[in-house]
This record gives sequence, C-alpha cells and structure tokens, in this order.
Amino acid sequence: LHSEGSNNDYLFKIVLLGDSGVGKSNLLARFARNEFYSNSKSTIGVEFQTQKMEVNGKEIKAQIWDTAGQERFRAVTSAYYRGAVGALVVYDVSRRQTFDSVGRWLNELHTHCDMNVITILVGNKSDLKDAREVSTTDGKSLAETQSLFFIETSALDSSNVNAAFQTIVKEIYNILC
Ligand code: GDP
Ligand code: MG
Repeated sequence: LHSEGSNNDYLFKIVLLGDSGVGKSNLLARFARNEFYSNSKSTIGVEFQTQKMEVNGKEIKAQIWDTAGQERFRAVTSAYYRGAVGALVVYDVSRRQTFDSVGRWLNELHTHCDMNVITILVGNKSDLKDAREVSTTDGKSLAETQSLFFIETSALDSSNVNAAFQTIVKEIYNILC
C-alpha cells in the first residue's frame, strides 16, 4: 500500500474525514502552512498537500487529502479513499452531532479501504471550553472500543495539531515499514 520513492523515502496517503465544519481544512492549513481561516474558504481548491516529515531518521512524505466540501452532500468518492494508509476522523467537541457521526465515517472508510487503515480519532476545537458537548472521556472511550488512536486538537490555538499528524505518520511507519 505504501510506495517507496526515489530516495528511499516513503509516501503515505492520509485522508481527512468527518462532518462538514469540524475543522478538517483548518487542521491541514495549520499543519502544512501554519495558517488559520475564520471562515471556510480554506477548503476550496485544495485536493491534497504533501508534507515532509521524519520518523526514525527516515524521510516520509505525508500526502494529506482534504475533501473539497463533498462531505456535505455525502458524496466523498472512492478516488478519495483509494490507496489511503491512514485516516484522521475528525469531530467537533462543541457539536455532539459530529461525534455521533463518527461511526458512519468509520463504516464509509472501511467499505473503501482495507480494515487496517491506521486511524486516529480527532476531537477538534478544544479551545471552545465553554461550548464543549463531548467530554475527553467520551472521546477516549469511543477510540478504545473502536481500536483507534485518540487526540484532542485546536486548529485555532495550534494545540496538538502537529502531534496528531506526527502520531499517525509514526504509527503507519511502525506498522508498514
Ligand atoms: P471543514 O468543513 O471540516 O473543513 O471545517 P473548516 O476547517 O472549514 O472549519 C469550519 C469552521 O470552524 C471555520 O469557521 C473555522 O474557522 C472553524 N474552526 C476550525 N478549527 C477550529 C478550532 O480548532 N477552533 C475553533 N474555535 N474554530 C475552528
Ligand atoms: Mg473543509
């Protein structure tokens, strides 16, 4: 599933999944460009971004795919999933409904990809402390029952954004390489 590049490096395709508005595009914008958009324009036009990373002294290219907003129409295509070795399934800690959708996203992922696509559950918008509708405990326990990695992030204040991508890339490397 992973393809080896010319310089003994690796290319991992990783997909972002989750309901519209949870912050997928902003997680990618924060990670790849250290940018944040208070509106949702960041989604438009970006298919994927490739980010160089290092794991165990090896150069990894993480090719991170963002939906172009198709998730609003439940029309994320199979091309989006094709060849993915990792997934970030994102919900918004301030909107319970987005957490309730996680199961549906996992089903969708597993109908298109291998069962063992490495997945991290990401509770985004941890900065919205007063508006929280999903506790850290609930996030953790869902992750445990579904055998997912788990992290809470904020694309707004940057917390854990790099860690989320580092974790998934490291785990992919450990399992596949
Ligand atoms: P997407 O539809 O999942 O790609 O979500 P976007 O990245 O477009 O974000 C949707 C909205 O949530 C935008 O208004 C963002 O500014 C906002 N947003 C994204 N991440 C965060 C975050 O970590 N904290 C807060 N407070 N807002 C965020
Ligand atoms: Mg988006």
